[in-house]
Amino acid sequence: MTTRTQETAQHHTGTAVDPMDLLDVESLLTADERMIRDVVREFAQDRLEPEVARWYEQGTLPREIATELGTLGVLGMHLDGYGCAGTNAVSYGLACRELEAVDSGLRSLVSVQGSLAMFAIWRFGSEEQKRHWLPEMAAGRAIGCFGLTEPDFGSNPAGMRTSARRDGTDWVLNGTKMWITNGTFADVAVVWARTEQGVRGFLVPRGTPGFTAREVTRKLSLRASVTAELALDGCRLRAEAMLPEAAGIRAPLSCLDEARFGIVWGAMGAARSAYQAARDYACTRVQFDRPIAAFQLTQEKLVNMAVELNKGTLLALHLGRRKDHGALRPEQISFGKLNNVRAALEICRTARGVLGASGITLDYPVMRHMTNLESVLTYEGTSEIHTLVLGHAITGIPAFR
Ligand SMILES: Cc1cc2nc3c(=O)[nH]c(=O)nc-3n(C[C@H](O)[C@H](O)[C@H](O)COP(=O)(O)OP(=O)(O)OC[C@H]3O[C@@H](n4cnc5c(N)ncnc54)[C@H](O)[C@@H]3O)c2cc1C
Repeated sequence: MTTRTQETAQHHTGTAVDPMDLLDVESLLTADERMIRDVVREFAQDRLEPEVARWYEQGTLPREIATELGTLGVLGMHLDGYGCAGTNAVSYGLACRELEAVDSGLRSLVSVQGSLAMFAIWRFGSEEQKRHWLPEMAAGRAIGCFGLTEPDFGSNPAGMRTSARRDGTDWVLNGTKMWITNGTFADVAVVWARTEQGVRGFLVPRGTPGFTAREVTRKLSLRASVTAELALDGCRLRAEAMLPEAAGIRAPLSCLDEARFGIVWGAMGAARSAYQAARDYACTRVQFDRPIAAFQLTQEKLVNMAVELNKGTLLALHLGRRKDHGALRPEQISFGKLNNVRAALEICRTARGVLGASGITLDYPVMRHMTNLESVLTYEGTSEIHTLVLGHAITGIPAFR
């Protein structure tokens, strides 16, 4: 027997609407994309989800998870050749969404490895550098990090002080990089430094004399992710350590565009998880003799979450299709990152309220997602910087300084 509510929901299509996918975005995916999504979802839910609250509480992420993600095939999955899976951009986005539905820290590991470190080598490296690093990194046997930000230069990386000077045919690097994801367990750091010919990228293997990494502790966000400070103190590298095709600050910025695309999708994973937790809780938690989902004020919250979640997911898919057609512009990525991270954070905050006191614990994923998204809002370009990118696109007037 169907209730009146169910009858309403079934009115047009004859099937009940999916509360997680009101617009049926699922129908816009290909069979291959769904298959890849399902494989990642199964791994994420079976292997990662049961452990993640403990990792978060302890402020750790076990190194072996990277190898398992490599075996799964998600590291550099959107790159071609050199042991990479060569999927389309939408599939990569779907994988990011499933990983971030567990925790932004896990998606960060995959983003930094695939879209920042591997992409930099794949796009700007020599054939020898690609052959040496990419297959190992795709398998998760080697981990990479990406050192752009410095203690005094975050939003304005072009001001960087880290320098690389020639000494014979060698390079000697000096400087400090800050907030570097995967920094302490990376086998290779992609480090950006100022040279006489402008900004250049260098591959710094772990253990190189003069190169050290120190973990950033006491974080209240992205706790299931390693963040580090990198110190380069007279770090001597052979000439071949430089990425030959990366000249100027545009090179690292193009890597950031890759990673931001994954964030556009990933943020909707965190938002989905928070919305789902709030919906489930609201349907079972009874106050004043009724499930709290029966109150109009709660329904409004759930509806607002669902609307933003569906809009953000459609936006991610639209940008993914454009990327697969080679038509995605940097301002459009800024649009996606700005909107989806902001929306995801709002969804998490609303979900936290729906869960009442329970919402502040690690028994539910909501507040963990919420604190993680504070980092996601800041890294890969803050919301202010993406606003300025769009402001420039709209008015033609740069307002960065
Ligand atoms: C957990 C975590 C992981 C990270 N991982 C990496 C990594 O792997 N590699 C890497 O290189 N970096 C990484 N970062 C660094 C990140 O990219 C920077 O934190 C970010 O670019 C912002 O820089 P900042 O923190 O120095 O803030 P600042 O640039 O000092 O900005 C502070 C505030 O001022 C605002 N602001 C700055 N300029 C303007 C302006 N022109 N107009 C208006 N407002 C402005 C900003 O939006 C922000 O609100 C990570 C950061 C975090 C938190």
